[in-house]
Amino acid sequence: MQINLSELFAADGMVREYDVPVEMEVFSCWEGEFPLVKKEPVHLMVTHTGNRCLEVTGEIRLYLLVPCDRCLTSVEVPFVLPVEKELDGNQDAAEESDEAYFYSGYYLDVDKLVNGELIVNLPMKVLCSPDCKGICKRCGKNLNEGPCACDDRSPDPRMAAIRDIFNNFKEV
Ligand SMILES: [Zn+2]
Ligand SMILES: [Zn+2]
Repeated sequence: MQINLSELFAADGMVREYDVPVEMEVFSCWEGEFPLVKKEPVHLMVTHTGNRCLEVTGEIRLYLLVPCDRCLTSVEVPFVLPVEKELDGNQDAAEESDEAYFYSGYYLDVDKLVNGELIVNLPMKVLCSPDCKGICKRCGKNLNEGPCACDDRSPDPRMAAIRDIFNNFKEV
């Protein structure tokens, strides 16, 4: 969703607060696609600090569904991202600027802002738990749910029995 800042640019010292819903359902980047499972409206405070410059502060709060780096189970990852931006109304819109990706022609695009903040804050690694056992590289079984059949050490018949119970259980 976009907010129109033309009124703010016109009035020196003016302050406005906004709660802007995030329309984005899925965050896409080169690492993949991550659904936004919970999101709060983005709270923004915009202040005209003088000379056609705006200060934008606020907070983004949402949850992304990100697969565990080891076992691929989906993990709800909370994000609380502070927003601190400056917009210079004197700059030519065509001019290259850091802010250009979420702002143009007096409109601030909140979804683009959220997208940009997620790109720089996406964690390199997400784990479902610190001691996640991951998946077997041979059969692909999630080893957090129990051992798989391709243990290449001497097979333990007791483990095989448990495995059968587990496999039967999974087929139900
Ligand atoms: Zn995991
Ligand atoms: Zn295996």
